[in-house]
Amino acid sequence: MVRDSQKSKVYKAERSVQTLLSDTEYKFTSLQQCIDFVCKIECSKWYKSVGLCGHNISISDGRGSSRARAYCSSNRICLPRWARNKMTILHEICHMHYTSNFVASHGREFCKLFINAVKRWIGKEEADLLRYAYKTYGVKYVVRSN
Ligand SMILES: [Zn+2]
Repeated sequence: MVRDSQKSKVYKAERSVQTLLSDTEYKFTSLQQCIDFVCKIECSKWYKSVGLCGHNISISDGRGSSRARAYCSSNRICLPRWARNKMTILHEICHMHYTSNFVASHGREFCKLFINAVKRWIGKEEADLLRYAYKTYGVKYVVRSN
């Protein structure tokens, strides 16, 4: 297992962007809205184009849980009330992709995909904010090709 050394920086960067986003635009008021959002993403061309496919993600309500979680083995995302917003859902969906032991959970591959997801499903401006926050907090998001 690769050490997940960027985790806390990634969370800090993300939180700093979340505080800038307007609630009405991006928070969901019901679990059903979250489910609809995930369905839309799963059925999209984007989902396949970034190599996400065939997951059939199910959403559970995360009652009594303080954190949002992706359970890759059962294709399930757990969403407590606070986590019902586009950015957190996208974050968890991106985790479904990188279940490999060779990349860190919040490593540069994850961050690159997450910026891409935010750009596609929230907006370009928000993706730019995220990229800026990554830079500010020293999060690495460029994937070297070799
Ligand atoms: Zn995460």
